[in-house]
Amino acid sequence: MNTTAKSTALHWIDGGWVDSDEHRDSVNPATGQVIGSYAMGGPKEVRSAIEAAQRAFAGPAWRTDRLLRARVLNRMADRFEARTDDLVGLLGLENGKTHDQGRLEVAFAPETLRFNAALALTDAGTNSQVSDGELSLVVRQPVGVAGIIAPWNSPVALGIRSLAPALAAGCTAVMNLPRQTAQVNSLIAELVGETEELPPGVANTITGGHVTGDVLVRSADVPTISFTGSTATGKDIMAAAALHLKRVGLELGGKTPLILFEDADLRLALPVVVSALIVFSGQFCMTGSRLLVHERIAEQVRTELAAMLAAVKVGPASDPESQMGPIIDKPNVERIDKIVQDAMSQGAKVIVRGGPVSDGPLAAGAFYRPTLLEVSDNSLPVVQNEVFGPVLTMQTFSTEAEAIALANDSEYGLSASVFSRDIDRPLRVALALESGSVWVNDWARLHDQFEEGGFKGSGVGRMRGFAVIDDFVEYKHIRLRPGTTPTA
Ligand code: NAD
Repeated sequence: MNTTAKSTALHWIDGGWVDSDEHRDSVNPATGQVIGSYAMGGPKEVRSAIEAAQRAFAGPAWRTDRLLRARVLNRMADRFEARTDDLVGLLGLENGKTHDQGRLEVAFAPETLRFNAALALTDAGTNSQVSDGELSLVVRQPVGVAGIIAPWNSPVALGIRSLAPALAAGCTAVMNLPRQTAQVNSLIAELVGETEELPPGVANTITGGHVTGDVLVRSADVPTISFTGSTATGKDIMAAAALHLKRVGLELGGKTPLILFEDADLRLALPVVVSALIVFSGQFCMTGSRLLVHERIAEQVRTELAAMLAAVKVGPASDPESQMGPIIDKPNVERIDKIVQDAMSQGAKVIVRGGPVSDGPLAAGAFYRPTLLEVSDNSLPVVQNEVFGPVLTMQTFSTEAEAIALANDSEYGLSASVFSRDIDRPLRVALALESGSVWVNDWARLHDQFEEGGFKGSGVGRMRGFAVIDDFVEYKHIRLRPGTTPTA
């Protein structure tokens, strides 16, 4: 397993490694130690990547040869699979993920690449004989250069989630990957860029931030943006993209409710609730952050969950006993704790305080223990706003209608979980929830063949599933008068 970073992580543009004038330090969030350096991208690198992607798109081998695209995507999948241990090691070192959670993330990449390889081959248009001698056909064509912007919380899974369908569709791509994971980005670039038969310029990666992302969004030469990140940034991107009427696919924030009905199997449900809170240290768009509990089981849930959360072992990825790694950096620890303190002053009752680890061997890292707050006011900021940390609120309800109303009273609509042993209720509730994904007696189960995305403020468009291709294609209607009508 590779747990050492490259000395200087570079960009991958037009089939080769590219440096920048500015270098910055990569930091291990578990220790605060510098683990390497990286080239920080700027507008110059983005523009050169866009030009390379435009040339590759004009090619035209890539956009017209679906067999080539499928072969390349399958090879990329093999490359990611073969380097799983290295990716997991770097995610532990730079992103703070425990090795189990790193594996969870990395496992998505080959699956997503293979699904999209198949999608490249199975793409089929429609056609019909409108009337005698008149044929219509609809073909899908790639839109051009795709701009891909991924966040730091899962750069491997989320970068590939956008890149694979873009390439399957026949687009070329420029990926803006986050500075917080520059070392991971460099390995992603190697695994993607050095794939046999991938033409230079088809897939380019930049390590950057909002400045480089903004260049992509505002470029007239990038007709589609596939963005994963916060709802606030998604709104800015949609507004800026309107300048060129470009299409946007937006996978945004969430505030996932976990609804425990009185007939839930708590032996099954409570460990899932704990995982929903601590996976990726609560820095997951689907983090279970709002626990809604039927009043009849509230006392049992409060007591058992408090004991389980207090027992979560927080620590670095290098310790195999760690169940939850650090937050991405210390400023985010402070930000999260400010939200908790404000909630306490606004009436939230502390069940498990958790909070920053400020003494002992973990004090140099950005660690935050899980926190459980009981609230009764659904309008509190801690209930309404994404915390992006291991902070769970608990509320009670007395009827199914009340549970649904509480769950839906949110700007977000990314995902939800329903726990019940009833046969009818879970489906009835799932249909009523304003949410792109609903799991029954489970949480965060995602499959490439099924669409993933948000209702309301959680997004526009869909990732995964067959709908994923729509962010990257134009539909073209071609009308033929082939002269098949018998002549007199
Ligand atoms: P963010 O919105 O602050 O930034 C995401 C990336 O966008 C950054 O790395 C940066 O490179 C780029 N960026 C920032 N401002 C930009 C701008 N104005 N124009 C163009 N690019 C810009 O999000 P973050 O803090 O990095 O990530 C966490 C957020 O991502 C959370 O809200 C989380 O819920 C969300 N997320 C959503 C999903 C999903 O699938 N729905 C998955 C993971 C994370």
